Amino acid sequence: MAQDREFGFATRAVHAGAIPDPVTGARATPIHQTTSFVFDSAEHAASLFNLQTFGNVYTRISNPTVAVLEERVASLEGGRAALACATGMAAQMTALLAILKAGDHIVAASTLYGGTVGQLGVGFSRLGIETTFVDPSDPDNFRKAIRPSTRAVYGETLGNPRVNVFDIEPVAAIAHEHGLPLVIDNTVASPYLCNPFDFGADIVVHSATKYLGGHGTTMAGVVVESGKFDWGSALSREKFPEMLEPSVAYHGVKFYETFGDFGYTMKARMEVNRTFGGSLSPLNAWLILQGIETLHLRMQAHCRNALAVARFLSEHPFVSWVNYPGLSSSRDHALAKKQFRAVDGVPGCSGILTFGIKSPDAAKAGERFIDACEFASHLANIGDAKTLVIHPASTTHRQLDEAQLEKAGVSADMVRLSVGIEEADDILWDVDQALRRAVG
Ligand SMILES: *Cc1c(COP(=O)(O)O)cnc(C)c1O
Repeated sequence: MAQDREFGFATRAVHAGAIPDPVTGARATPIHQTTSFVFDSAEHAASLFNLQTFGNVYTRISNPTVAVLEERVASLEGGRAALACATGMAAQMTALLAILKAGDHIVAASTLYGGTVGQLGVGFSRLGIETTFVDPSDPDNFRKAIRPSTRAVYGETLGNPRVNVFDIEPVAAIAHEHGLPLVIDNTVASPYLCNPFDFGADIVVHSATKYLGGHGTTMAGVVVESGKFDWGSALSREKFPEMLEPSVAYHGVKFYETFGDFGYTMKARMEVNRTFGGSLSPLNAWLILQGIETLHLRMQAHCRNALAVARFLSEHPFVSWVNYPGLSSSRDHALAKKQFRAVDGVPGCSGILTFGIKSPDAAKAGERFIDACEFASHLANIGDAKTLVIHPASTTHRQLDEAQLEKAGVSADMVRLSVGIEEADDILWDVDQALRRAVG
């Protein structure tokens, strides 16, 4: 019976991938804090190493606690398989290095998280992988930037910090016309609000550090594969021969032929995580699992509170502009409606919003505002249960030059709030008193 039933999101958030421990009866997922796993016999060891038997060898490659997290996130995203990594940055790196090498090219949205702009634009370029950053508001910009050497198209469901909504469907179609996978960072929306696979994305990455964990305690990342991308198609096979040919990096395995719709995840696991070592620890996987059990409840609260703050700021005399796609005045509102789950009848747009302070010296006023907040914490993170605040131009996006800042949509006066799940009235009070102190 259970095999036929499609369980709802909340049920999967609590249960997917986990069963009571068959040995001890433990109801909660045990933390398998071990580096290695005993082989049954020499023959068993050999078949594990040849990937002929599934099983655990060494925690850098796989671990039973980490596997529960991988199955859970794959389920929440509607994907086929997932691979957990030490951080969101490691997950992105792993997702891309599984299919890219020196000489290859990426087309990415220009409005990405600052760390990702650095990873692709500087880190990867030192490895001989070039990225063209394009304005994602017109999908055709992706088409124009694709070259014969392009191997991936990359975007964020909701950009960080501009919270611009990425129109996944047309960009996926463009990528597929060229035999390329679309990789989507779904960190800010979380799988509760959006499943990018429903709109044609092929690979999803997460910084689980943010909403999945949800409490600002734990670094983690996840790569998820839809299982639908045809690596063997006429267009793709010449671009990704390493998906089809015997792996030089791993015992001559042919990943796509052997593992089919989870061949990409196996390649990422065996050729990137195993080789470059960005694996997740079992304890951190367990902490993220605790967070995910309440993801649906927290996301509803984040969405409600952020909308209340956005509406309050839109009418505030000391605020010059507010950017939140949940506001019906936002130019991304229609797209948010198309892609995001509704919360209280309004498209749920997560907890991040940005605004500018009305002041002759807006940049200074932004800094004063941050110093005046009482319980909103000034720090470089998002997706915490606690309300967080930052001034991107002087912090997270500091490494970007003026042109890159403009491309990323980060203005000098921009304040970013990551609205938490506290009492909405208290958040409004803190924001209001800080505005008065910043401008008054
Ligand atoms: C934080 C973040 C990352 C990086 O994740 P870490 O877990 O900090 O390594 C990537 N993408 C987005 C959208 C993020 O917000």
